[in-house]
Amino acid sequence: MMMVSTTELLKEIEAAFPPREMPVHDSLVFHQADCLHCEYAREDLEDIRGKDVTRDVLRWFHNDLGCLSAETTRWMLPYYLKFGLTPEALNDGIETEFLIYNLSVSVENNHDTLQRLSLLNRAQITCFMHFVEWCSNQDHWRAYFPDDLEKAHAFLKSVLDGRTAVPANPASNTASRAGKKIAKT
Ligand SMILES: [Zn+2]
Repeated sequence: MMMVSTTELLKEIEAAFPPREMPVHDSLVFHQADCLHCEYAREDLEDIRGKDVTRDVLRWFHNDLGCLSAETTRWMLPYYLKFGLTPEALNDGIETEFLIYNLSVSVENNHDTLQRLSLLNRAQITCFMHFVEWCSNQDHWRAYFPDDLEKAHAFLKSVLDGRTAVPANPASNTASRAGKKIAKT
């Protein structure tokens, strides 16, 4: 694995994820209807609209990453990545832990995860993969869940290599339009 320094990775995150507006109400969550879990997540997301994405916000949603739409995932991911680089996250980093857990999925069960990552371009997937590599180089995370880090890395690599097809996201037309706008990078 390539060794990325914390400073380099921070620069890479900032370059790969230019600031975005929070997605509109109808594009916030994964299940548009008939899912209470997603509906609660949507209400919680609306509560933070226009506010800073603080550590408290990241902690609040760490267990609801599966409820986020592809658009919200793209919007929120850089905040999780940047926080993950702080010493605070290495001491008490349940946010990073769940970010990795969400990726350590088997190939058979990855359809939803692929959809949530479907708006990330190659630079963003690469950046996410470098984050996982960075975590693998931290004693704390390497000792804590080496297998999950390895699975997460393999998963992102397979997305990047196109070995796993990324399905279109039928849940949201605005999502695919927004995706096309940034696809040129
Ligand atoms: Zn749901």
